[in-house]
Amino acid sequence: MSIEYDRLTIYEASSLLRSGEISAVELTRACLERIRQVEPRVHALVTVTEEMALSQAQKADRLIAAGDADPLTGIPALIKDNICTRGVRTTCSSKMLENFVPPYDATVVERLGQRGAVIVGKTNMDEFAMGSSTENSALFVTNNPWDLSRVPGGSSGGSAAAVAAGEAFYALGSDTGGSIRQPAGFCNVTGLKPTYGRVSRYGLVAFASSLDQIGPLTRDVTDCALVLSAIAGYDTRDSTSIPYPTPDYPSCLVADISGLTIGVPKEYFVQGMQAEVEQAVRAAISKLEELGAKVEWEVSLPHTPYALAAYYIIAPSEASANLARYDGVKYGFSYRDAGSMWEAMEKTRQHGFGPEVKRRIMLGTYALSAGYYDAWYVKAQKVRTLLRQEFDQAFARFDALVTPTSPSVPFKIGEKTDDPLQMYLSDVFTIPVNIAGLPAISIPAGFAAGLPAVAKAKAGLPIGMQLIGKPFAEDTLLKIAHAYQQATDWHKKRPEV
Ligand code: GLN
Repeated sequence: MSIEYDRLTIYEASSLLRSGEISAVELTRACLERIRQVEPRVHALVTVTEEMALSQAQKADRLIAAGDADPLTGIPALIKDNICTRGVRTTCSSKMLENFVPPYDATVVERLGQRGAVIVGKTNMDEFAMGSSTENSALFVTNNPWDLSRVPGGSSGGSAAAVAAGEAFYALGSDTGGSIRQPAGFCNVTGLKPTYGRVSRYGLVAFASSLDQIGPLTRDVTDCALVLSAIAGYDTRDSTSIPYPTPDYPSCLVADISGLTIGVPKEYFVQGMQAEVEQAVRAAISKLEELGAKVEWEVSLPHTPYALAAYYIIAPSEASANLARYDGVKYGFSYRDAGSMWEAMEKTRQHGFGPEVKRRIMLGTYALSAGYYDAWYVKAQKVRTLLRQEFDQAFARFDALVTPTSPSVPFKIGEKTDDPLQMYLSDVFTIPVNIAGLPAISIPAGFAAGLPAVAKAKAGLPIGMQLIGKPFAEDTLLKIAHAYQQATDWHKKRPEV
């Protein structure tokens, strides 16, 4: 019987590698073959790094033969295209950086390399990570492998779609307001946003520096724990990275969650959300209760409705400052046919950035300008403090909070592109977490059965559940999520692409 590589977890593949049943080179070739098969339909990858992957796989085989292997050794992975990879184009899915080849690796990439990981490519995203559907990519649109006419979510849509479609065992994404969790929910994979400061941002192209975090997208919670262990930890090259001990996450995964307290904030079950999403998530919470967790079904976090507005001041403000560096002089796209330096700079930005990025720069520049600064930026920061305090109070009583990841199942490509506000609303449940710097995980929690079953995706469209934790309590989240996955098999369902 042939092994279906595209369905294995990291753990399973790693034991095959260690028992000698397959080699890392064979596993990598199988992955590259899968990429060739599904990419014409999914369009998740900006770059395939075949040559580099095969040479890393040869190195991994030598490590395995020498008995020096780690569970990630020889396992094919993908990296979101806003995370720098030495010698490999890192575009941020923007025309501005279309030909940018970083001279260094991001810390997370370096750490995966130290474990003998195999990088098979870079994933598509919303331009500069601004978006919730990957439709803002200046390169191409990615399709959801569960229904090719729908979005995979965003901004790490390429990472989520590729993991769901079996193009690699795991992927790294980045999350500023939901960009790991929302696409994970939309593609039926597991996605974790770590506590702010847990994972180094060195080499992550900055969007909103006080909110950005890198994290894993995987096929299950065990794999998520493995990848987080590899990438987490203090880094002197990121001044916001926190010198806090990194637990060995896989060893935290005991299936017993009896006695843990979980709160269900009522503000996350809002009017206008899809009924099937609510039903599935409520059923999933009942499952947690059955597994022994103490669930309080009606908790209130009254400032929640202000999070989205605060985010759309804070994130664009920081973006407007971070993106000032793209002037056509230092690196990236450069408009050459100009009469003066100022014209060259203007034209570079006019032609190099897409419409959503320009909208954010304008919003942010406005919010930071003299006269408006106090009314907008300072006020948003005050709301941020209130939200943080509110979460602190909740976490004095609960080990975790549970919510839907998104108010809807994956929407149709093109459905929200003309309405930025509707698009922004896809992240109402994920944004408060970034505002407060907390860790959160999205795991598969069911499928919307009432929606028309789409071609080949017989089960319908995926629904994600979000667990939010105390700062640095990723271990608690992984434990609860793992217990849920031991008792259910939503996460084992894969789309037929
Ligand atoms: N969708 C949100 C935005 O557009 C979040 C993006 C992200 O997390 N990178 O800003």
